[in-house]
Amino acid sequence: MKGKKILITAGQAKEEIDGVRYFANDLRPQDHGHRAAAALAEKGAEVTLLTCSTPLNPPSGATVISQSGGRSIISAADLYEECEHLCKGEKFDLILHLASVPSLKSAGKSAHKIKAKTMVGNAIKMKVTANIDILSALKAPGRKIAGYDKAQRFRSNGLSSAWKKFFDSLVHEHRLVIGAAKQPSSSLAQDLSGVKIVVTSGPCVERLTEWGDVITNFSSGRQGHETACALADRGATVALVSGPVALPDPVHASVDTVHVRTAAEMLRTCLKEWPFDAYVGVAAVADFGAEKLLSKQVLIEDITLIQNPDILLSFGMHKTKRPKVVVGFAAETENLEGYAREKLKKKGADAIFANLVGQDAQGRSPDRNHVLKITEPEVRDCGEMDKYHVGVLIADFIAARLSRG
Ligand code: C5P
Repeated sequence: MKGKKILITAGQAKEEIDGVRYFANDLRPQDHGHRAAAALAEKGAEVTLLTCSTPLNPPSGATVISQSGGRSIISAADLYEECEHLCKGEKFDLILHLASVPSLKSAGKSAHKIKAKTMVGNAIKMKVTANIDILSALKAPGRKIAGYDKAQRFRSNGLSSAWKKFFDSLVHEHRLVIGAAKQPSSSLAQDLSGVKIVVTSGPCVERLTEWGDVITNFSSGRQGHETACALADRGATVALVSGPVALPDPVHASVDTVHVRTAAEMLRTCLKEWPFDAYVGVAAVADFGAEKLLSKQVLIEDITLIQNPDILLSFGMHKTKRPKVVVGFAAETENLEGYAREKLKKKGADAIFANLVGQDAQGRSPDRNHVLKITEPEVRDCGEMDKYHVGVLIADFIAARLSRG
């Protein structure tokens, strides 16, 4: 590999739907490209890693590019354009397209804004269109390309079987270690001791097609995980029910983490924890899942999505299993206070912590948050702070409500 110039696409491309949701593909491990880059750089290749924004650590020995014209590379189109741009300036001996790319995206110029209806089981139709097939689009005379096509099959025309073996071994290797575990702090008031709390965190992921396309939400899980730690640091026993995130499970004797994928699994897992004193819904639960898995690689023009259960509402309004305290989150792209107030009422919550996402939140560090605390009848702007301290605010709220009886 000495001196060979290799361009690798990596990470998970996201096709935004409406500011809180996106299409992705999760058939393969997301760190595939990063591991290939590390392994090839170690063998002496000159590796350029072109990656969609990802929580993965950059691999050592490779030149990493995750921005184009000052903007993060997010979608398949961003990735493809930057790839062509790099190829104009430099000649690569091989292009490896290992990024995971969903085969569909929202149709039309203006992205769909999904307005949730109130009934579980309601169906909505969403117009979608085929996404760019990067592997085919990159084909040009004199270029050597290998990687994944739109049906997630590895294509390596003209590459030797040794290469194929190399890729197979990458898929089976262990994932890179991501993030750092937070250590529990000591000597805090133990005003939640003897209290059991269920916290949901991260996104839910709903499969749409048999070849790995999913609909999911923007959520790192950091706010939910930090909240679980903040509650446990005050003496609570916490069941953390988490969708797939790149964070490690909290290292805390009083936090028990359960991993789930779909909204239905998340609700079922929370119900299994009953009885508990408080529910804190931080997860970006998927409002919709597929009516049925699409099983053929066809050009899809619309898909039917079915409304999922609302977990917060289920606990907030439960006739027999309502915890003493129910707290929710609201991530909004606009009208923060208005929508959050509506949610407080509609979902039967005692408090909603609301924060802006999307363009208005751009530039904020991923481990910080700026929340409004909404209770009946009060709204308080808590200002910007790190996510652990937002968790502390929730711990204060729950402790105060429980002591009131
Ligand atoms: O998605 P939405 O803005 O309605 O989320 C507000 C709150 O409701 C969050 O706490 C979220 O965890 C919860 N939620 C839920 N089940 C859903 C949708 C949202 O528990 N299906």
